[in-house]
Amino acid sequence: MKKIKNILIVTLLVLSVSFLNGCGSSKIAVKNKKEKMRKQVAITVDDLPFASSNRFITDKMKKEMFNRFLDKVKKYNVKVAGFLIGSHYSPDWDKYLIRWIKEGNTLGNHTYSHLNSNDVTGDEYVEDIGRCDSVLNIIFTKAREELKIPFSKSEITASDKTDTPDKLIYPTLNPADSTDIKKILTAPKEEFKKVLTKKYNFNYKYFRFPYLNRGNTAGKKYIISSYLEHNGYKIAPVTITSNDWRFNPRFEIAYLNKNEEEMKSIQDEYLKRIIRETYNSENYAIQTFHREVKQILLFHLNMLNSMTVNKIIEWYLDNGWEIVDLDTALKDEVYGYEDTYNGKYGIPWLFRAKRIRRTTESPIAWGN
Ligand SMILES: [Zn+2]
Repeated sequence: MKKIKNILIVTLLVLSVSFLNGCGSSKIAVKNKKEKMRKQVAITVDDLPFASSNRFITDKMKKEMFNRFLDKVKKYNVKVAGFLIGSHYSPDWDKYLIRWIKEGNTLGNHTYSHLNSNDVTGDEYVEDIGRCDSVLNIIFTKAREELKIPFSKSEITASDKTDTPDKLIYPTLNPADSTDIKKILTAPKEEFKKVLTKKYNFNYKYFRFPYLNRGNTAGKKYIISSYLEHNGYKIAPVTITSNDWRFNPRFEIAYLNKNEEEMKSIQDEYLKRIIRETYNSENYAIQTFHREVKQILLFHLNMLNSMTVNKIIEWYLDNGWEIVDLDTALKDEVYGYEDTYNGKYGIPWLFRAKRIRRTTESPIAWGN
């Protein structure tokens, strides 16, 4: 008797769900999904290989934390963009940075000495960017050698010596990726590039301004932006700041003291700050540009984020956000607007961005 009663309840439930669907709830679901798709955020991480000023955080801990960060990001299949401080690099980080690249994350330039553009001349600043470029070049060459894949254009052309000119043959790739190797070995030239870029991100020509300072005079800004443009760099702006550097020192102490309660409370406080900044930036975009923009979140590769990034990702996913890579975010036209701010403060992009109709008469303001 109990069994029959249960069957009846289940049947009624199924019927009522079908009835609701018939009334258009599936259409609503599709609509909601579309609306949700409009919210996009890219995650960017500064001060690689690892940010810490606590002398009790050992090199071993830093490396463990670096891997822990990557494990979490990988679990959610999220691709992040990291920015290297050239002077903080040493060859013992190769293994870790190559893993970063190998898993499809971007590795870009954050100057060699983490310079503040307010403190140096434009020429000194661009020289420092160049020094970090050389370091990145070393890392990417090592990554390419380890993965045994051609990197430069000339190498790709040099290996194109087969009977079928539209097919390319390449040295063996990582044996673990046999399907990808097959795909790459038989791909036409253009396809090869696509497959390669999709799998490993070998483009290190992204630049993040330390302290978000782009130059405190129009002249300095001009020198720096021209240098970046001529050297193939894309600027990676920021729209959501996390202020993680305020929370991280306390978190490191709690970690060293194995005080889990304190760690959890700092994580909660920090997450609340990210949520508030996200809503602020979203509201500002809607008020100013009358639409959602593809947002770019900034935090640092430190202990706090190595242990909290999963919670950050989950909050975005649970609240209707799609996490995209930096390149996708940069496709938003808001990143093509003019930066009319020439002051000394490192303010986020949306406060700088102005849609300006360019005319040939508009002169460059050479304020110094
Ligand atoms: Zn930095």
